[in-house]
Amino acid sequence: MPELTAVQREVLRALVDTAVPALPVEPDPTGFWSTPGSATGAHELLEQFLATVLPEADFLGIQQLLDGMATLGFQHQERAAREAILGSASALAPEAAVAIQTLRGGACLFANAIPDAQGKNPFWAQYGYPGPQQAPPTDEPHITPYIPSDGEVLETDIVVIGSGAGGGTIAGVASSAGKDVVVLEIGGASSERDYQQLEVVAGAALMYKGGIALTADSNVGLLAGATLGGGTTINWQNCVAPSAAVRQEWEREHGLTDVEGPEFDRHLEAVLARMGANQDCSNLNGPHQRMVEGAKALGWSCHTATLNVDPAKHRPEMAGYTQFGDVTGAKRGTLTTYLRDAYDAGARILCHTKALRVLHENGRATGVEATYTDPQTLETRTVTVHAKDVVVAAGALETPAVLLRSGIGGPAVGQHLRLHPSSGMFGVYEDDQQAWWGPPQAAVMDEYRDLGDGYGLLVEGSQYYPGVFAFQLALTNGKKHKELMSRFANMCDLLFITRDHGGGSVTLDEHGEAVHTYSLDDPRDQEQVRKGLRVLAELHLAAGAQELWLNTPTAPGFRRGEDLEAWLTSLYEKPFGAGGIAMGSAHQMGSARMGTDPATSVADATGELHDTKGVWIGDTSAFPTPSGANPMLTCMALAHRTAEHLTGVRAASPSAPVLDDTVSA
Ligand SMILES: Cc1cc2nc3c(=O)[nH]c(=O)nc-3n(C[C@H](O)[C@H](O)[C@H](O)COP(=O)(O)OP(=O)(O)OC[C@H]3O[C@@H](n4cnc5c(N)ncnc54)[C@H](O)[C@@H]3O)c2cc1C
Repeated sequence: MPELTAVQREVLRALVDTAVPALPVEPDPTGFWSTPGSATGAHELLEQFLATVLPEADFLGIQQLLDGMATLGFQHQERAAREAILGSASALAPEAAVAIQTLRGGACLFANAIPDAQGKNPFWAQYGYPGPQQAPPTDEPHITPYIPSDGEVLETDIVVIGSGAGGGTIAGVASSAGKDVVVLEIGGASSERDYQQLEVVAGAALMYKGGIALTADSNVGLLAGATLGGGTTINWQNCVAPSAAVRQEWEREHGLTDVEGPEFDRHLEAVLARMGANQDCSNLNGPHQRMVEGAKALGWSCHTATLNVDPAKHRPEMAGYTQFGDVTGAKRGTLTTYLRDAYDAGARILCHTKALRVLHENGRATGVEATYTDPQTLETRTVTVHAKDVVVAAGALETPAVLLRSGIGGPAVGQHLRLHPSSGMFGVYEDDQQAWWGPPQAAVMDEYRDLGDGYGLLVEGSQYYPGVFAFQLALTNGKKHKELMSRFANMCDLLFITRDHGGGSVTLDEHGEAVHTYSLDDPRDQEQVRKGLRVLAELHLAAGAQELWLNTPTAPGFRRGEDLEAWLTSLYEKPFGAGGIAMGSAHQMGSARMGTDPATSVADATGELHDTKGVWIGDTSAFPTPSGANPMLTCMALAHRTAEHLTGVRAASPSAPVLDDTVSA
């Protein structure tokens, strides 16, 4: 691992204390003002992050920047002089500005996320955030993964790559239908006893690329799960049904006969029932109360969310930690439903196991070649699984990479990547919003779901994370950042997700690893992003927000009474993505899609590859177009349908839950 020199370290520490300064403010009962960022060890974690995550050339660039600052004596200057140096350095070149803002963001993130020896962070008391609240239980996990020996060859009926929403569902349904199943999951196995309710720990352990992934063009941040249960282990449990327009489009334009009518309702109901989805746990925290009040004031449509959460185990004061792993056991993702069904029926589940390629002969699947990595020693072992059927469900970011490495799937592999590009806005209110309490998503504002052509946007809530939010509010002046964060308790973050019209792609780099590109240049999508920013601003203001801030620290804030149109126009002038309004995606879809034409789709309308029999697409990659709804439910219903096609067995019907979609009060 590359290291900084002693002087570079001193400069980095001074930079952290410029981004998160100690300020002489009285009274200071919690020590919020007098504590500098470095008191948390943020400079050390930032260095570790830079050394492990950045490519070597970028790390060298940071070293050069720090050396340049050292020659100006940055580390010995007063705060105001340090700010001036950062300002001048940022003005030198766009690359320098990006590097400095990245360092500021990292400083703010780690300073607000690192716990002390008591498991608390010194800034949280100011925010009224309790931090970790419950010691994890000591219960043994239900699932014990199968550990392969080096060179082991497993024989099975079906091998499933990926254990998330799609792969987990297919493994469970196929096992219940009497098939022998092997699941290969690149992430580790986790259970309630591993969850410490800390974002720094959870990001590294449970998320794709440690929670820090970006498209190659830096346009869109990518969030996905990488653990047993995939996205369903870390997600926000919002079960949003696909609209009638999307189902019609998939049936009529992409040949998925039966998705428009009652057959697909049956699949949706089956997975909702297995997850025990309900509306009893959708407690409205401050941000959701503001969303509902704003929507009411504006006459906009707003609905209670349906969550796959067990009401018997649900505790609203713990629900806000769900992305860090749900310590209560209330979350009913595939880890606690379909993967258990598979395991209990005898499926072998391999973790830390990366599927390299699908094996095939004469246009027919024969198995999978994979590598197991021992999490302690990092020693690797080769594993081969022989099977008549292979389900590729590695998520829409990685499924195309598996297919491309295998040389199957045809010309559409990796094309049509959709991301539901999303952005967020903080409203600052007069009172404490207790945004950490309650589920991240408890209501959905869907007034603009269809802007006339089946495309549009949804407004939803967000997981509460002081580190990530501080990163998003890392203003280009440390004093201003700290002043803003002093009112963090009064903030509500709301997001919009757009149903994207344009798209991106997944290709392979020289090492055979996935490269994601997404240009964000589709005029229809840009219009939706503009609409999303306006809708968030109007909603917050109707609910009483006094100030508005984007999740983009370089964008100006807005104060009630100022000219809203002028502010929105100034935002619209910025690019969307790299160098402009920050965009993110927790919804990746469509990169190995289903359809009737082998030139524009990878799998046929049953989910089986056009060009290789016995290979099935089991995840969100299979969506012909974006779902326009949070994808988990649609993915699982489609996977349920694919599993029936694969096994030839109609799944037993669990009893359907009652879904009361009344407008929230
Ligand atoms: C923070 C967050 C919150 C979300 N909240 C919601 C929500 O409230 N409602 C909703 O509907 N959706 C939500 N989503 C999205 C939802 O979780 C995903 O759309 C869904 O999980 C995708 O299912 P999938 O099967 O396509 O992929 P995943 O669930 O991502 O599963 C893919 C699995 O494959 C594994 N894998 C990857 N490559 C390989 C390989 N080569 N070999 C073996 N294994 C591999 C991965 O580690 C992963 O576990 C959220 C997502 C995030 C990140």
